[in-house]
Amino acid sequence: MADETTRAQAPAGANGVEQTASVAAAPMRGPRPQRSGGPREGGRKYFRRKKVCKFCVEKIDSINYKDVRLLGQFVAESGKIVPRRLTGVCTPHQRRLSTAIKQARNIALLPFAGRA
Ligand SMILES: [Zn+2]
Repeated sequence: MADETTRAQAPAGANGVEQTASVAAAPMRGPRPQRSGGPREGGRKYFRRKKVCKFCVEKIDSINYKDVRLLGQFVAESGKIVPRRLTGVCTPHQRRLSTAIKQARNIALLPFAGRA
């Protein structure tokens, strides 16, 4: 395997050295095929947590805006509401959640903006 690759490269390289015009077409037969064809390492780097809607799991139907401890889990340090794709909350619950957070903000249970 390795021998063949080396031999095949040599003549191509010798021919192509002076021809600048052919360089554009060359990358297909690149001098080092090993680089582009390298095997992927390991696959996934990040371990994906299985996301489940917390409210569905705990069967919380109505989200109370006074429950700061609960709402706080879905508010980032900056005061922003954490997006659904990060928390895994389902759409209907996220909607209620955001409403509850906004209500909580108005009575100063949660910050509109924390420290940016
Ligand atoms: Zn849900």
